[in-house]
Amino acid sequence: MNDRIFLSFPHLGGNEMQYINEAFRDSWVVPLGPNVDEFERRLAAYLHTADVVALSAGTAALHLGLVELGVSAGDEVLCQSFTFAASANPVKYQGARPVFVDSEPDTWNMCPEALERAITDRKRVTGRYPKAIVVVHLYGMPAKMDEIMSIARRYGIPVLEDAAEALGSSYKGTMCGTIGDFGALSFNGNKIITTSGGGALICPSSEAASHVKFLSTQAREPRPYYYHKEIGYNYRLSNICAGIGCGQMEVLEQRVARRRAIHTLYAQGLKGIDGISVHCEPTADAISNHWLTTILLDDSVPYSPEDLRLALDAAGIESRRLWRPMHMQPVFADAPFYGDGCSEHLFQRGLCLPSGSILTDIDIARVVDTITNFHSKH
Ligand SMILES: *Cc1c(COP(=O)(O)O)cnc(C)c1O
Repeated sequence: MNDRIFLSFPHLGGNEMQYINEAFRDSWVVPLGPNVDEFERRLAAYLHTADVVALSAGTAALHLGLVELGVSAGDEVLCQSFTFAASANPVKYQGARPVFVDSEPDTWNMCPEALERAITDRKRVTGRYPKAIVVVHLYGMPAKMDEIMSIARRYGIPVLEDAAEALGSSYKGTMCGTIGDFGALSFNGNKIITTSGGGALICPSSEAASHVKFLSTQAREPRPYYYHKEIGYNYRLSNICAGIGCGQMEVLEQRVARRRAIHTLYAQGLKGIDGISVHCEPTADAISNHWLTTILLDDSVPYSPEDLRLALDAAGIESRRLWRPMHMQPVFADAPFYGDGCSEHLFQRGLCLPSGSILTDIDIARVVDTITNFHSKH
């Protein structure tokens, strides 16, 4: 029996324990500490930016991004519908209302036309412009940031990039997460690098970063006793988890290169199959880390992605349906939505293939063969 092939398995570099051992040796078994500082320095250097704050989760980073942008009760926030719920949930944490925007077929990310339509229509309906825009680089694929930023600037609405899946992706030479006003990263176990659980918020200034650090450590004013003027959070990354992150930063470039190579193997292996397309960068402007390689079955294919998922599963291969859009989720049933069916179609016809950097060329060939055999039986 072959070993099971997982979708996106953690892939350690080897030096993670060294950083953790140092933390134990020096009793830095606490939130904050030298590993946190070092992890932030390495992230900032990699991203060619200055101000990165390590946090306990990508969701915490998105939440504090919204807090920094002043999102509060009664506000509306425009959010890409085709994403994981963690992009939208923090809008609700703030008592604000998510308004969902559809994707476009090139990148599968926020459609600039639908975004502008949503902005002008919300102004018409509510008398106010939405307070922020949450755009996602889904599966690592950069969104159309020039178009989105120019619309956002025209209406004076700040942009929070959800780059949880896109560490290592870039758009016109700029790293994803550093293009909008704030950017969120995730180091959950299934992401391109892991801290076992963690995230980071990329900030536009050292003042903003200081304030995020302040909020994430319970908003304690600098006095000899506990004194609070703002609502705080316990969102800082632990020094142990940051040690894993320091080890992972040593191999991040290799991890990106391997995910991109896996995408190429799939693109080559599946190109002969009529009706199955591998999602690729639409133009040279976008470089994806290809966190997950995704495929789309066109309408001529007589089976569903769910049929294919079950066939792969029976062959010991984990695959996953594409995200079910947020405007199709019961929990967001009353949220407004602007779109024309793009993300619904992607959900109906797409599938994520195993893409972890730990997978071998032989593993990928096994996935390709299983898909090819299943397809030829129909
Ligand atoms: C993983 C993920 C998040 C949340 O990150 P956590 O670290 O798990 O909280 C947010 N948005 C997207 C698109 C993600 O894939």
